[in-house]
Amino acid sequence: MNLTAKVLVAMLLGIFAGLTINVLNVEVFDRSLMAEGAFLNAYVVNGFFHIVGKLFVNALKMLVVPLVLFSLICGVCGIGDLKLLGRIGGKCFLLYLFTTAIAIASAIGVAAAIGIGEGMNATSDANFTGREAPPLSDVLISIVPSNPIQAMANGEMLSIIFFAILTGVSILMAGKKTASLIDSIAMLNEVMMKMVGLIMSFAPYAVFCLLAKAMANLGFDLFLSLVGYVLVLIGVLLLHLFVTLQAVLTFLGRLSPITFLSKMRNVQVFAFSTSSSNATIPVTLRTVTQRLGVDNSVASFSVPFGATINMDGTAIMQGVATVFIANMYNVDLGLTGYLTVILMSVLASIGTAGVPGVGLIMLSMVFAQVGLPLEGIGLILGVDRLLDMVRTAVNVTGDAVVSSVVAKSEGKFDASVFDDPDAGTFDESETELKS
Ligand code: ASP
Repeated sequence: MNLTAKVLVAMLLGIFAGLTINVLNVEVFDRSLMAEGAFLNAYVVNGFFHIVGKLFVNALKMLVVPLVLFSLICGVCGIGDLKLLGRIGGKCFLLYLFTTAIAIASAIGVAAAIGIGEGMNATSDANFTGREAPPLSDVLISIVPSNPIQAMANGEMLSIIFFAILTGVSILMAGKKTASLIDSIAMLNEVMMKMVGLIMSFAPYAVFCLLAKAMANLGFDLFLSLVGYVLVLIGVLLLHLFVTLQAVLTFLGRLSPITFLSKMRNVQVFAFSTSSSNATIPVTLRTVTQRLGVDNSVASFSVPFGATINMDGTAIMQGVATVFIANMYNVDLGLTGYLTVILMSVLASIGTAGVPGVGLIMLSMVFAQVGLPLEGIGLILGVDRLLDMVRTAVNVTGDAVVSSVVAKSEGKFDASVFDDPDAGTFDESETELKS
């Protein structure tokens, strides 16, 4: 079995194991298996599964900063032309905004047409105190880091991107003298990519543990009470994933969605298991460059940039949640209200990084702006864990679509890699030591 197949099997087994624990816990035993301190809860689900899953997510996160730094410096040196760099950046930015705006508009449209939440009166015991999202002015200011080491230590992606681009440009400006520096950074990039492969070889076990833990801890009774919200949201997410994004890929990129989706499966599973576009960056970057054929000069910028500012899935959640809560509280937002929601969600996605649960922070910002009660968010909190997993998979797919389309339009795309089903597949011999 190749790695993708193993990861998929692990995912299904993990879901099955987690659900079994969850169901057994609820229905069969008098003493809850998952009660605080019970063996299964303490040592298996929140012990072993938690540790193995966390170790893996940490390992992925460990790679993010050095990988983005080295690959982006290489990318800028590879482009070697400031104008082209600006054009690639501009195209990515516009396409990211465009897809996010379509995502949220379709979410509001579908949710409003179905009328979810209508006639369900909100229970008043929900409570949620919103966490502030950073104001846009702070986001803009923080693009230029006052201390690049601190920015790297805190994983501030926009600052790291800025610093890496500036370093690359300066290396180019220094001319011939720096040729060996460029080679060294390219080698470091190569080493980091090897490390991605190495860590990915542990993925099947980790994915199993991550999913078993997440599913075991899910509260299914909550799902039943919110089944309408969950179904509409997942429906719109799938619509965006399989229709909107694939239309963008087909019409703007002239690329086959079938090939694209089959090669993206690994990335989606990683995003689903970790609920974090940021932690998935190493896998997205590897897949986009080595499996889809996007040149590193585009991908090294578009992937981390997308993980930070492009969140189609999250925007969809904002749209559906807004309609749902507005209907439940009998608030009529009107056209201006909904347009504000669209604008706010797009802006909020720029300012917040792709880490687990950030969608809820963005949602509080949107609610505060249109005057919806923040405690409404408390109503959907319980089901957000699973929905976060699904929307993160949509988020990373959007990043890869835009990367491919922009690369294709700039001639930075290798169609032979895209068309080769085996290109860049992970092969076990890759992790053998070569003496
Ligand atoms: N977890 C999402 C991501 O990393 C963000 C969110 O919707 O909460 O892309």
